[in-house]
Amino acid sequence: MPEPKRGNPLSHRCLPVGSPPLIEELVAVEPVTSLSGRMPDQSPESPGSAAKPRSAVSAVQLDAVRKVFGETEAVAGVDLDIADGEFFSMLGPSGSGKTTTLRMIAGFEQPTSGRILLHGHDVTGVPPFDRDVNTVFQDYALFPHMNVADNVGYGLMVRRVDRSERDRRVTDALRMVRLTGFGGRKPSQLSGGQRQRVALARALVNRPRVLLLDEPLGALDLKLREEMQIELKAIQQQVGITFIYVTHDQEEALTMSDRLAVFNEGRVEQVGTPADVYERPTTPFVAGFVGTSNLLRGEAARAVIGSEGTFTVRPEKIRIATPDAPVAEDELSAMGEIRDVIYLGSDTRYIVALEAGGELVVTQQNLDTSSMEVLEARGRTVRLVWKRRHVLALAGGPSAGEEEARRNP
Ligand code: ATP
Repeated sequence: MPEPKRGNPLSHRCLPVGSPPLIEELVAVEPVTSLSGRMPDQSPESPGSAAKPRSAVSAVQLDAVRKVFGETEAVAGVDLDIADGEFFSMLGPSGSGKTTTLRMIAGFEQPTSGRILLHGHDVTGVPPFDRDVNTVFQDYALFPHMNVADNVGYGLMVRRVDRSERDRRVTDALRMVRLTGFGGRKPSQLSGGQRQRVALARALVNRPRVLLLDEPLGALDLKLREEMQIELKAIQQQVGITFIYVTHDQEEALTMSDRLAVFNEGRVEQVGTPADVYERPTTPFVAGFVGTSNLLRGEAARAVIGSEGTFTVRPEKIRIATPDAPVAEDELSAMGEIRDVIYLGSDTRYIVALEAGGELVVTQQNLDTSSMEVLEARGRTVRLVWKRRHVLALAGGPSAGEEEARRNP
């Protein structure tokens, strides 16, 4: 087994009594690149291949990793291969094992079985402070009595990095997260988004090769979240550090990731680029969790598609036509009744009960229809039409909604 890369020998045990929790994130990483530089062995091509990471040695590799807590199998055998410089998300519902997987990569939890490799070194059993990773948590955990600059530089001070080097790196990190000039403020004098950026700067200042982020935007309001998603992605591209991002928010994962893994009940159901996972989901669970379920199976599949099996068609691919509308050679159609209409401002979502059984959701942009007009559609008999090529065949198994109902009857 290769010798794991050794980090700084200081551990969280050296830190002052009364420190905020999760102090492990502050300590012990080896500098490998300047904040503005890219990793030495990183290939210039853009990440995102669904099949395989780009560099010969993965930044993070999980081999058959399991974690059991008493009766609960939190992680049930996960294999992942995350490339250097990749923005990789772990997406899934609550309790699907994302955080436990992240904590095992960080070293806060040990796998029950399986191996974890960081840049080719087996780190299974290596403590957090000896791993070349940092973690950013949802609850920031800033020191309230310290100003922003001291919060960001705290890990460097613990590691006895000299004052001038520390100041330089803190200034650099604050610039990176667009907080130049905020160094003298206390955390209480910042907004939620600014506090989250301080937490990010505090992790970046250590120059880890891998940054782990556990729902870091979870406490922010929607508008700020959306702004921070774009900023986080820009920062990641600028620093070239591998980001592993845990979220249960599908839009967040689709917006930011080069690739993502969809978790369900401790297993990975699918790994791919956002487009792969959204446009070519391989299971009913993924089709329903990343987007709207829209499944056709059983009698409905036989009647509408003309085949046995489970199929999905995305809501934005379907158009609503009058019952007598013509259907082209390359199209499929189904008759139904609009059961419900949900007006969303820019779009409207129609829930259509099919004559053949089951339901399909259709979304349409409100190009020239008013809210009154769309709401009047309720109860109308319609023909739904879509291109044959937009029908995807899925492997069997329950959808995300059915799984949720099973868990919370
Ligand atoms: P969330 O989005 O809600 O954080 P998650 O996908 O991150 O969920 P985990 O936190 O990894 O899920 O939890 C997976 C399962 O393991 C859950 O059933 C959880 O209750 C259980 N679990 C996690 N940590 C522990 C622990 N320390 N002891 C016992 N069970 C645990």
